[in-house]
Amino acid sequence: MAVKTDSYLMSINGEWVGSELDTLDVVNPANDEVVGTVPHGGEKEAEQAVEAAYEAFQSWSNLTAHDRAGYLKKLNQLMLDNQEELAQLMTIEMGKPINESRGEVKYAASFIEWFAEEGKRVDGDVIPTHAAGKRLHVWKKPVGVVAAITPWNFPAAMLTRKMGPALASGCTIIMKPSSESPLTAVKLMELCEQAGFPKGVVNLLTGSSSKIAKVVMENSKVRKVTFTGSTEVGKTLIRQSADQVKKLSLELGGHAPLVVLDDADIDLAVKGTVASKFRNAGQTCICANRIYVQEGVYDEFVEKLTKAVKELKVGNGTDESVDIGPLINQDGLDKVKRHVDDASSKGATVMTGGEPITDNGGVFYQPTVVKDVNQSMIVMQEETFGPVTPVEKVSSDDEAVQMANDTPYGLAAYVFTENVSRGTQLIEKLDFGIVGWNDGGPSAAQVPFGGMKESGLGREGGHEGIEEFVESQYVSIGLH
Ligand code: NAP
Repeated sequence: MAVKTDSYLMSINGEWVGSELDTLDVVNPANDEVVGTVPHGGEKEAEQAVEAAYEAFQSWSNLTAHDRAGYLKKLNQLMLDNQEELAQLMTIEMGKPINESRGEVKYAASFIEWFAEEGKRVDGDVIPTHAAGKRLHVWKKPVGVVAAITPWNFPAAMLTRKMGPALASGCTIIMKPSSESPLTAVKLMELCEQAGFPKGVVNLLTGSSSKIAKVVMENSKVRKVTFTGSTEVGKTLIRQSADQVKKLSLELGGHAPLVVLDDADIDLAVKGTVASKFRNAGQTCICANRIYVQEGVYDEFVEKLTKAVKELKVGNGTDESVDIGPLINQDGLDKVKRHVDDASSKGATVMTGGEPITDNGGVFYQPTVVKDVNQSMIVMQEETFGPVTPVEKVSSDDEAVQMANDTPYGLAAYVFTENVSRGTQLIEKLDFGIVGWNDGGPSAAQVPFGGMKESGLGREGGHEGIEEFVESQYVSIGLH
């Protein structure tokens, strides 16, 4: 069944269904219009999805990796064929500029393509024996039913980064997208149906996160939960997973430092800062959240950055020429405002921006550069998730490292220097899972993505991404 109206449905065991509870409105943050409704699913639907996924696991896990890759390759192609529809949906449900949405669809499809092939390389092992009458093997088994809970800021890619390895390795999946941006997920589900996945292999729930999470955390048929979202919810899931020792992968919050040393190519550093910081209006887990610039190039960097940021165009993401869309909702806007106001009140200088934009409806904030910030300001301590670049002066490489690491987060960091020795030594001291060296956009399907410290557990993408969905089974064979 195709999604034809703005009333969208969930999919359980190959059937499109509503919910006994009400529906939830999905609101375009660019103009406050309701662009669709989704079912307000709860415990009953979650139980049904678990049963369906559990039943389907028996046959899906018995297919060969080559057969499963066939389904995934069809899905990859369907995503590319439907790139424009997916992108338009994404833009109206969460505000991302349309060109970025198109880019996200391609990026999202690349995970399906990558893992279709990686599924064929889930090798076991034969280990040299210590006793003549024994043979020692390691076999790999899919972990079982997987629940995937995802955030609103990358409505397609955060799902496919989990779907790809789960489905390729032989797991079945229950997807629960954010209530802020579930429509892209419904369209993806429709494409899964067109790709011919057997019923129950892929299921989609929308609605109450707490009720759905309660079921998936308490039902022992769900063996793995893979979550992307805030560190706060991630910690709740860790606690809830304890009773059943459920397998968890967590991609959580970030608070990325970006360091510019005095031998950096300043134009490149400004370009990298703008690319990293202002993508998705700064609502990206790996976006540069705090900038540390060495004193010799501080004034030049701030001046060039301010000039570049002044050129960014803000508006409704459906406008092809827009660089910065709205924030996701009023809470997001209030947080950004709180961070900038706090910095200003403690002596920082706003070089450009610094205010909400109220004249065209929606939830917009001006692209902002704040200089002369320090570590006492909230903007240097918490994830801002908005189009704000706070810049602090540092004197040495060691001071930059000390400040960069002075956070419970450890997802991404950026370093700009032309000196290989300095760059290498500095990066070796950084406690971050991802580092962009002279590169503001390090993400790709074939690399391991994930954080240290409170930014998460496990890695997605790359060779490592599929390991999260398989168990090693050691088999000792006695010969007689
Ligand atoms: P969030 O509030 O943690 O929500 C993420 C998902 O969890 C949503 O589907 C949400 O559903 C659900 N959820 C909320 N409360 C829950 C609970 N008690 N139990 C189970 N699920 C629950 O995060 P967000 O605001 O959507 O996303 C922004 C955060 O995600 C930022 O911190 C960002 O850094 C992080 N992020 C990290 C990565 C990464 O790869 N490390 C990537 C992207 C984003 P409802 O919407 O229905 O409540």
